[in-house]
Amino acid sequence: MRDCRRHSHHYILLVACIFAAGFSAPACKMKIDEPTFQLNDRVLFSRGIGEIGAFLDGEIDRKRFLWGNDLVNDEIHTFKIAEVPTNGAGAAILRIGDWTGKGEIAAFTWNKRPTLLEQVDWSPAQAQIPFEFKPPYFLPIHIWLLYDDPSKSPQDQEEQADRRLGNAYIIWYLQLTGLEYRWNTRTITYKPTPAFTTIDNCDDIVDLADPKRGLYDTAALNVYVVERVFSEFADTSLTTNGYSAAHCASPNAQVLVLGKNATPDLWAHEFGHAFALGHIDHLSEPDLSPPLFDHENVMHSAPATVRKHFTEGQSFRQAFHSSSVINSALKMNGAGFAGRNCPAFTGNAVEKTWPNYDLWGKCPLLQLRLWADGAFLPSKSSPPASNSWLEKIWR
Ligand SMILES: [Zn+2]
Repeated sequence: MRDCRRHSHHYILLVACIFAAGFSAPACKMKIDEPTFQLNDRVLFSRGIGEIGAFLDGEIDRKRFLWGNDLVNDEIHTFKIAEVPTNGAGAAILRIGDWTGKGEIAAFTWNKRPTLLEQVDWSPAQAQIPFEFKPPYFLPIHIWLLYDDPSKSPQDQEEQADRRLGNAYIIWYLQLTGLEYRWNTRTITYKPTPAFTTIDNCDDIVDLADPKRGLYDTAALNVYVVERVFSEFADTSLTTNGYSAAHCASPNAQVLVLGKNATPDLWAHEFGHAFALGHIDHLSEPDLSPPLFDHENVMHSAPATVRKHFTEGQSFRQAFHSSSVINSALKMNGAGFAGRNCPAFTGNAVEKTWPNYDLWGKCPLLQLRLWADGAFLPSKSSPPASNSWLEKIWR
C-alpha cells in the first residue's frame, strides 16, 4: 500500500510537471527521482501465508528518461497478503516497476522455507513472474539421551528432550526460518552410555559419531544429550550446557552435543552452528556501537536474556549455505543445489550500509531484516502478536 501511494505521488508530480513545463524534458527530469511509477511487472506469490517479505534483484528500464538502465540490487517489499490483490489462482500480486535483465527473488512467509528463485527474466514488457513458496524443511533429527537422570523415568527424560526441541522450534517458527520437523522425522533414543556421559573434547565427538558404535544416524542430524560437555570457549572447562561439533577443527556438522541443562534457546543456537551460522557477539554491544545485533539474537554466545531472534540474513544462510547441514549432508534443497555461500559480516564499511548487500552481490547482509519494525524487535507482526507466548511455555 505504501508503494502505491508513493507511485501515485510521482504520477501526480509528472502530470504537474508536464503542465508546468510544457513537455520540457529537462524540467521534468529534475522532479522524477523515482523511475518505478509505472507498475507493469508483477510477481505472483503463491502458497504464502499471512505476510510476505521479499528482496528482488533486477534492473529498472529508465531508457524512456534517457538515463539508461539502473541496477536494483536489491529492492525490499513486505506486505500482508490480505492487503494486495490476488489473481484467479489465489496468488498474491506484487506490482513493481518496468524491470529488465536477469535477476532473482528471495522471499519469506509463515510456515514455509525461505525460497529462492534464481534466473528470473524481467525483460518482457509486462513480466509476470510466478513464485511458489516451498514447504518447510522437515528436518530429520535423531536425539540420543546418553546419560541417565535417576530422578526421572526414561519416558519423562524423552518427553523433556521433546519439549526442548519443540520450544526451539517455536523460535524457528516465529522467525520465519522455515525449519521444522514432524513426529515421523524426529527420533528420540534413550540409551545411557557411560563411556559418553561426559564429552571432553573434539576427539570424543569423532569417537561418538563413529557409525560402528551404533550411536549415529547417517540420515539425520544427531543431537546427543549428555551429563557434561566441554565449553565452547575453553576446552578445559566442562559445562552442563551445550556445544556443537561445528566448533571443532574437523567438524561433523551432523552432530550437536548438548549438556543436560541446555535450554531451548541453546538448542536453537547449536542447531544454528550446524546450519553454518557463527556468533554475532562482535556485532553487538559492547564490541560494536551502534550494534547490529543484541543479546536476544539466537547466535549471541552470552545471552543476557532468552534468545529468540534470527535476522532474515541469518535465515537465508541457514537455508542456502553449502556448509549448512541442510545442504551438505541432508541435501534438503536437492542434490543439485550448489549452495549460496554468503560471507559472514566482515566489518567492511560497504557491508555495513543497510540495506545494501554484500560485496559478492548475491547475498543479504547477515544483519538484514525485512520487517523494519524496530532494530531488534521481533521481525514479524503476525501471528502470534507477541513473544509472551514464547516466554510462557519456555521451559
Ligand atoms: Zn556457539
